[in-house]
Amino acid sequence: EPQKRYDDLNLIVANLQKSISRLLRSDITLTFGLCDDRLSVFAERVQIEQVLINLMVNARDALTSGGRIHVATALVEVREAVVTGGVTVPPGSYGLVTVMDNGVGMDKETVGRIFEPFFTTKETGKGTGLGLSIAFGIVGNHNGRITVESAPGKGAMFRVYLPISEGEM
Ligand code: ADP
Ligand code: MG
Repeated sequence: EPQKRYDDLNLIVANLQKSISRLLRSDITLTFGLCDDRLSVFAERVQIEQVLINLMVNARDALTSGGRIHVATALVEVREAVVTGGVTVPPGSYGLVTVMDNGVGMDKETVGRIFEPFFTTKETGKGTGLGLSIAFGIVGNHNGRITVESAPGKGAMFRVYLPISEGEM
């Protein structure tokens, strides 16, 4: 029987903040902006960590020297469905994690394919093309949504929405 685990999304992100820097290069500036609200979400912590790690590693790979990654959390009330690049976020309360970078960005065609298993633009041996399809699956299993906005030369902005659910923490 699946266990229900409630967690504070801010704690998951804060915990990751300590361990993530070894995955990055020293020429990358990583900043965090955590909101003051408690973000009680249903989450398998290790899985949500995996999603965020996959997003940050991709951001790293998209950056050249002097690049920046910013990770932020927020409590969002979606009143009318939000549609971003074909993904609909239904009305509700969400804990939101945004991962943005100022790297190479993506063209429309790439954006349209990134959640496909084995889709990669990296050279052989450098990427499996599985990171985002795994992230998509995990977020879906949490009844959440993952959206992306990007353009060539404009970096990328990924948003992970997890429904707020009150429960024992
Ligand atoms: P992999 O990293 O192994 O290539 P992913 O599923 O993690 O596989 O990502 C798929 C593709 O999406 C990448 O190869 C890249 O083309 C694109 N991508 C993902 N994140 C970013 C990003 N932050 N900036 C630019 N392109 C990205
Ligand atoms: Mg990847």
